[in-house]
Amino acid sequence: MPYFPEGMPIPVIEPLTEPFWAAAREHRLVIQHCTVCGTFRHLPHTLCGNCQSPEYDWVESSGRGSVYTYTIVGHPVHDATNDSVPYNVAIVELDDCGNVLVPSNVVDCAPDEVAVGMAVVVAWDEITDEVTFPRFRRA
Ligand code: ZN
Repeated sequence: MPYFPEGMPIPVIEPLTEPFWAAAREHRLVIQHCTVCGTFRHLPHTLCGNCQSPEYDWVESSGRGSVYTYTIVGHPVHDATNDSVPYNVAIVELDDCGNVLVPSNVVDCAPDEVAVGMAVVVAWDEITDEVTFPRFRRA
């Protein structure tokens, strides 16, 4: 079941992010990785934030991590979320891929149950035929 109801804006797939979404459709979480200095980055960007190189590849993550921080959204910021509040927005620190931070949500988790340090694993939210979004659930 989708984390958000129909009508919630969904990501626009662009050439830079297409490999990420293609992997997500296969339920693989891939993270952009600088092939010059080894820095991982997410969200995808054309240049490395560490060495400014445009060279990169994509590395598959185990999808395991922990909640680095989170917030509970209590006010609907979009009409599609009127019936969803309160819900969590979590920043997940992956166990691999340089401990890169991934903005997402923890599914099947009441607002008062989310906690910093909670072990989570990726859970795939198939929104459309094109967009499968990486959410997380308790590990
Ligand atoms: Zn770099």
